[in-house]
Amino acid sequence: MALRSVPRVVIIGGGIIGVSAAYYARKIGAEVTLLDMGEIGRACSHGNAGYVAPSHFVPLAHPGVITQGLKWMLDPDSPFYIRPRFDPDLFAWIRIFRRMSTDAHVRASMYILRDLAQATLGLFEEIAQSENLAFELQQKGLLMLYNSEKGRRSNLKEVDLAEELNVKTAVLDRSGLETLDPGMEFRCLGGVYWPGDAHIAPASFMEVMGNQLETMGVTVRSSTPVLGFSLSGKEVRGVEIPGGVVEGDEFVLAGGSWSSSLVKRLGIRLPLQPGKGYSVTVEKPTLTPILPMILSEARVAITPFADSLRFGGTMELAGLDLSVTRSRVNAILRAVPRYLANVDTSGVRREGAWSGLRPVSPDGLPYIGRFRKIPNLIAATGHAMLGVTLATGTGKLVAQIIARDRPFLPLAQFQPDRFS
Ligand SMILES: Cc1cc2nc3c(=O)[nH]c(=O)nc-3n(C[C@H](O)[C@H](O)[C@H](O)COP(=O)(O)OP(=O)(O)OC[C@H]3O[C@@H](n4cnc5c(N)ncnc54)[C@H](O)[C@@H]3O)c2cc1C
Repeated sequence: MALRSVPRVVIIGGGIIGVSAAYYARKIGAEVTLLDMGEIGRACSHGNAGYVAPSHFVPLAHPGVITQGLKWMLDPDSPFYIRPRFDPDLFAWIRIFRRMSTDAHVRASMYILRDLAQATLGLFEEIAQSENLAFELQQKGLLMLYNSEKGRRSNLKEVDLAEELNVKTAVLDRSGLETLDPGMEFRCLGGVYWPGDAHIAPASFMEVMGNQLETMGVTVRSSTPVLGFSLSGKEVRGVEIPGGVVEGDEFVLAGGSWSSSLVKRLGIRLPLQPGKGYSVTVEKPTLTPILPMILSEARVAITPFADSLRFGGTMELAGLDLSVTRSRVNAILRAVPRYLANVDTSGVRREGAWSGLRPVSPDGLPYIGRFRKIPNLIAATGHAMLGVTLATGTGKLVAQIIARDRPFLPLAQFQPDRFS
């Protein structure tokens, strides 16, 4: 295809990935249309923990995760669950996940995850400053707490890798933790401080970026589901929406957990499972930590925002199902006082619990790049637990792919056809 001088770019999905791609595509001068079947920014990119965390360089597929996962399957309150069902896509996903859960894969992935996360953080800063947008970007770092010997060992293993990667850490005992966050009474064994991490208020980011895109001249269409593709030879000519077709030159697949079912219609296999998580947000809390924290063994994230405090966690592979399992929400809240003695979550209202579906690839790396079979369709999905952490970097890469510029990071490990 000869690129028009101003390419028409159609982005499917207005989550944090689609919005970031729209922003950078518009910046290079493309004519951009962003389509979402619901409202922009109301799916998984809404109620998450908001971490922009270069500390998360170990991919989800890593040694030990299978054994731990099997143990958790037997515990109804555990942070991980696979709903038993006959689903060939799930079986295929598990097979790849098992194959990729090796030290070699961790070592092969950690550099690129670190680099994309660090680039993303820089781009969040740049957007906040250059566009004068407020989304509570705070660069205070992140505390990983542990309350068992096993948790300590696994945290220290990551500290060793961090040293190799030149990522700063500080290992702290209880008094060190109390110095960093004096309002908290730590009940855990210790923790690791990752000073290079940051966080944003995800719903604010989605709101201000949605407005910003419209100001920049992006056509934003909510309540517009993409139902299929209209092809011309090996290329997408347009996407089918109710009552018509939106034509374009380049198409970006940023449909989060819905992405794989959409491209199945094109005969493309994109292994992806929705990984459901929950969060509960307390407005105007009486007591709040200064720093965001992860409770390692419980896999619970705590994020202090300007006027609220959020507790989040759980990974349920249960298909495209947003229903809330009350016992797992309770388990998230019950874990908190095991680490922080003075944070009482017993009275927190569970009724308003939020759920979101992380688009989880089986190797813990996102899909970013052109599909071999349909070269004007670009994948930007599969970010699993790192959708915020890798968002703006992914958006910039998508724009570089569209412009046929050299990407600022090598894309080989993110190729969407890597399991075909
Ligand atoms: C509890 C929890 C905590 C988390 N905490 C963090 C964190 O601290 N840091 C971090 O980096 N990540 C975190 N994540 C993960 C992060 O939220 C996701 O990776 C990220 O939101 C995924 O963004 P996305 O744009 O790919 O998908 P989504 O936000 O789900 O957006 C996809 C969009 O595509 C639209 N769409 C789908 N199909 C179609 C179609 N056919 N037509 C039109 N539109 C369509 C949907 O309506 C949706 O709006 C967390 C997730 C959870 C659940």
